[in-house]
Amino acid sequence: RAKEDRNSYVMFSRAIYGNRKEIVQIETHLRHAINKNELFLMYQPKINAKTKKIVGVEALLRWNSEKLGFISPEKFIKVAEKSSIINDIGEFVIKESQKDILDVWRETNSKFELSVNVSPRQLSSIKEMNRFKKIILNSNFPNDKFIIEITENIFVGDVKRIILFLNTIKSYHISISLDDFGTGYSSLSILSKLPISELKIDKSFIHNMFLNEENMKLVKSIINIGKDINLKVVAEGLEEQKELDLLQSFGCDIYQGYYFSKPLSKEELISYIKTRH
Ligand code: C2E
Ligand code: CA
Ligand code: CA
Ligand code: CA
Repeated sequence: RAKEDRNSYVMFSRAIYGNRKEIVQIETHLRHAINKNELFLMYQPKINAKTKKIVGVEALLRWNSEKLGFISPEKFIKVAEKSSIINDIGEFVIKESQKDILDVWRETNSKFELSVNVSPRQLSSIKEMNRFKKIILNSNFPNDKFIIEITENIFVGDVKRIILFLNTIKSYHISISLDDFGTGYSSLSILSKLPISELKIDKSFIHNMFLNEENMKLVKSIINIGKDINLKVVAEGLEEQKELDLLQSFGCDIYQGYYFSKPLSKEELISYIKTRH
C-alpha cells in the first residue's frame, strides 16, 4: 500500500517536473543562460475586439540551451522558481522587453501596452520587492503602458504584504492583470481583494467552449462579471473563427491567440504592425 502510494507520487511528480536528473541539469545550465545569451523573448499581440488593432503584447520567455536544446518555459520556469534564479530571470525579462518595445514603438510609430509575467517568488520578500521597485524606478519605459501578469499562486506567500505591494505598484500607474483566471482554487472574492484592472480567461476554457456547454456559460459569465466591475477581459488561446464569433457576441474586450498571431520575434512584430495598421 505504502509502496503503491510512493510509486504513484513518483509518477505524478515526473509527469509535471520531469525526472530528478533532468531538473538538476536544467538548474545547472539555467544559471548561465542569461550570461550566455541563451534567453530571449517573443511577443504575442493582444487585439482590441472592436477595432481589431493591437492594444498590447505579452512578452513570453524562450530558452535555447546550447547543452539541452529548446526547453519549454513551463518546464524551466518551474525549476527557476525553486531557487533565486527566477529573480535574475525576472529582471532580465522586464529590462529586455521594455528595451525591445521602446524600439518597436519607434520603428512603427505606434504605442501600445507591454505585459510581462511575474512569478510569486519575485514578490515574495521585502528584498525582492525592493529589487522590483528599483528596476521600475530606473526604467524609462512609461509605467502607464506597463502591465504585470500575476496568477492566483501569489497567495502562497504573505497575502497582506503582497496586496500592499500590488497597491504600491498600482500607485506607480502600472496595471495588474490576473492571468489563468478560473484555473486556481480561490473564490470570486479575489477580484475585490486585488487591485487588478484586467482578467485573462484561461485558454482551457476557450478551447472547451464547444465541447462542453458549461464551459461556454462560464466564459460568458466571467465576461459579464468583468464588465460589471470594470475590468478589461482578455480571452487567451483563441484559435478559431467560431470561437471569435461567440466571444464577440459575449462582448469580450481583448483577444490573444494563434487566430490573430503566434508569439513573434521583435522583428516579426515590427512587420506585423506595419502590415496591419
Ligand atoms: P501564460 O502566461 O498563460 O502564457 C500563455 C501561453 O499560451 C503561452 O505559452 C502562449 O504561447 C500560449 N498561447 C497563446 N495563444 C495560444 C493559442 O491560440 N493556442 C495555444 N495552444 N497556446 C497559445 P508559452 O509561451 O509556452 O508560455 C507558457 C507559460 O510559461 C506562460 O503561460 C507563463 O506561465 C510562463 N512564462 C512564459 N514567459 C514567462 C516569463 O517571462 N516569466 C514568467 N514568470 N513566466 C513565464
Ligand atoms: Ca501570462
Ligand atoms: Ca495565461
Ligand atoms: Ca499559464
